[in-house]
Amino acid sequence: MIRSSVLSTMRVFLPFGVFACVLLASSCALHAQRLPQTVRPEHYTLILTPDLKAATFSGVESIEVYLAEPADHITLNAVEIAFESVSTTVEGKEQKATVSLDKEKEQATFTFPETLPAGKTTLAIRYTGILNNELRGFYLSKTPKRNYAVTQFESTDARRAFPSFDEPAFKATYDVSLVIDASDTAISNGEIISDTPGPATGKHTLKFSTTPKMSTYLVVFLVGDFQCTAGESDGVTIRSCSTPDKVALTPYSVDIAKYVLHYYNDYFGIPYPLKKLDLIALPDFEAGAMENFGAITFRETALLIDPKTASVDAEKEIALVIAHEMAHQWFGDLVTMQWWDNNWLNEGFATWMENKPVAAMHPEWNIDEYVVSGIDEALNLDALPTTRAIRAKADTPSDINQMFDGISYGKASDVLLTVENYLGKETFRQGVHNYLAAHTYANATAEDFWGAQTATSHKPVDKIMESLVAQPGAPILTFAVPVDGTVAVEQKRFYLSPSIVPDPAQKWTLPVCFKTVEGQDCQLLTSADSKLKAPAGGVFFANADGKGYYRSAYPPREYAALVDQVETRLTPAERISLIGNEWAQARANKTPIGAYLDLAAAVKADSGAEVVAAALTGIDGTYDKVAANAEEHDAMAAWIRSTFAPQYARLAPPAETDSANTREMRAQLFGFLGFYGKDPAVLAQAQEIAAKYLANPGSVDATLGQTAMAVAARNGDAQLFDRMQQIYETSTNPEYQENSLRLMAEFENPALLQRALDYAVSGKVRNQDAVIQFVIALSIDENREQTWKYIQNNWDKVQAQFTTEMGAYLVGSTGNFCTADARASVETFFSTHKVAASDKALKHALESIDGCIELRKLQEPKLKEWLTAQPKP
Ligand SMILES: [Zn+2]
Repeated sequence: MIRSSVLSTMRVFLPFGVFACVLLASSCALHAQRLPQTVRPEHYTLILTPDLKAATFSGVESIEVYLAEPADHITLNAVEIAFESVSTTVEGKEQKATVSLDKEKEQATFTFPETLPAGKTTLAIRYTGILNNELRGFYLSKTPKRNYAVTQFESTDARRAFPSFDEPAFKATYDVSLVIDASDTAISNGEIISDTPGPATGKHTLKFSTTPKMSTYLVVFLVGDFQCTAGESDGVTIRSCSTPDKVALTPYSVDIAKYVLHYYNDYFGIPYPLKKLDLIALPDFEAGAMENFGAITFRETALLIDPKTASVDAEKEIALVIAHEMAHQWFGDLVTMQWWDNNWLNEGFATWMENKPVAAMHPEWNIDEYVVSGIDEALNLDALPTTRAIRAKADTPSDINQMFDGISYGKASDVLLTVENYLGKETFRQGVHNYLAAHTYANATAEDFWGAQTATSHKPVDKIMESLVAQPGAPILTFAVPVDGTVAVEQKRFYLSPSIVPDPAQKWTLPVCFKTVEGQDCQLLTSADSKLKAPAGGVFFANADGKGYYRSAYPPREYAALVDQVETRLTPAERISLIGNEWAQARANKTPIGAYLDLAAAVKADSGAEVVAAALTGIDGTYDKVAANAEEHDAMAAWIRSTFAPQYARLAPPAETDSANTREMRAQLFGFLGFYGKDPAVLAQAQEIAAKYLANPGSVDATLGQTAMAVAARNGDAQLFDRMQQIYETSTNPEYQENSLRLMAEFENPALLQRALDYAVSGKVRNQDAVIQFVIALSIDENREQTWKYIQNNWDKVQAQFTTEMGAYLVGSTGNFCTADARASVETFFSTHKVAASDKALKHALESIDGCIELRKLQEPKLKEWLTAQPKP
């Protein structure tokens, strides 16, 4: 699964990493809810008849199970299911079961009049259920024209659609039939093998091929009038599907999927196991996308795009999400984690893997640099005291939901990259192949993975990975001045908050890769070592290619040399790594803020958009979180203009032939000068570009056009606001739609902000999107107070918009405040206005506010001093 796209596309607004943290949900008082291991399902036959108008469905199910020992009762999972009959046949005699339900445990127990013998038996079940509107289980999705019946089962919601042994290790095969209206079609994991009229008038029955052996959370049923664009890759049929009005936006995704499928067949050395792969955009969908075996579902913004008018960001995002979900067809679907405590085996892998085919297909996107920026984000998340270890206990559905966070995705993928860089790409690939081949159609644990890598490479991967997977946090390695070819290294857990004292006993075993003239020299640092061999010659940089999962601190002379040669001796990825490293240390008060700003200025003319973006992240952070008054904001704005306006000015005017890098560089400098530099020329230009873009989106580069729209919206009037609302309500292009919704929350005019917030709770915005406006508005300094007041005064209406995941986003976004009063207000309000599954999001938010208060207190005087020392423009 990938969490909602809201997440990544809003990264730019939240330099403090609030995002990744808010994904954590609450712990829950429920007891462990595991099923007994004595009954195992082998095969399900499901005939489902949904009624899209009444929002109900009926099911006829048979489950072939294997009993390890004689039993007179069988327990499985079921929620919101009404049982009509349950029976089995023993030696030709039908046994009818009585059914008892345990609502809290989400289980049903069938008790039979006689004891069933050990061995195989078949359960025959008739039941009814509801098509809910909670975006999970078997649910209803709506457009103005009609209803759709669709599913989302990860993690524990298959049990809402069919009684099942709903745990990942209970793998089975499935024969699915859907009885639907004659004019509708349906999509499931297998391909359609028969289409028969009836059984009732006006209906037809679609039967799908038997699935491979797989987990319940990967089953999918989609019913409606979907239309598709088809392609083919390595003999596999690939289709991208949507509601009929959007099918013109599907071809881009077919091209991506074709490339990725061939790439993965080759990389894994195990061919894609099904005959077809469908990608389907659903109008209502909470997550970003979901890797159902053979039929991946998406939020519309994560699949549908018009490449002629799309921003670079949107193109990249869609390619990466598709590659992520397709990687799951191997990591997750073919080989599945034994239990949710190891869901990083799914999510970390898919996140690490998604970059490879996209980098190969689009070298101009500089994916390697984007990956290093991601490592920096994960390290910041992991530098909070409430972070967790990659592998963590998860028993209840609520615990399991918490596992889908920046640690399972970000940190886990970064750890894999660290190990891959240490072993070499081909050795690591071989280890991946061996691991997958050993557990095909089965389940695996963390030990299975690092055992395979250790056996393949003959290096202590098990020690390294256990050190990084089983304990929370990451170290900062403090290097002494190299003497006689050796360098002393001290490792300590790194916290962003300077007031936390790390436990001296916590140590890591990890590869440290020094940059050398030829490339890199990787050495293993263990808890016992304090000395490494110093690299010979060249610049002293301890994280070659930026692929190591740790922070580094250098002696003053070595650091000064790095800054001097940042543009000449370091690669772009290394520059990004160094910049992130220094910004984190400024936040931790280990270096003065001015030292960071000097480094950021040293890369101002860099030709790489991702490098400049990395530098701007810390400048944004300084402006928002360190500068404390109008005078300092004005002085920073002046410095921003004098440093970056010339960089913007030297870019040639937009041209058709511009590379993705140039398009991104232009847009980000433009936005930065507009938002933070308050550059009058940029502000005026923004009006002009926005007007042109609105009149004809194809006439302006969308990357610049959308940024100009955002700058214009900050100072926009009611007419522009009306236009945004109109686009949201009438456009059939999901990218425009979502952008216009976001932009409505950017208007700083209080009356218009009020309209945006009223609109978010008006019922006109889909539940999956309503929270976007609150999250955006809370991320903008000028809009934060008013939005927070609005939330408190209109709590009933605001809360009515939440799905589980979205409530936690909103709570997490209050972490953008930076005062003690605001902190008290947030804490008090949420202590009496509980949001489901958001305890941890609240803890992170409060921690984030505390961090900001502490940072400002310690660094603001140093910023003032640094600003005073800058030459007057
Ligand atoms: Zn995923």
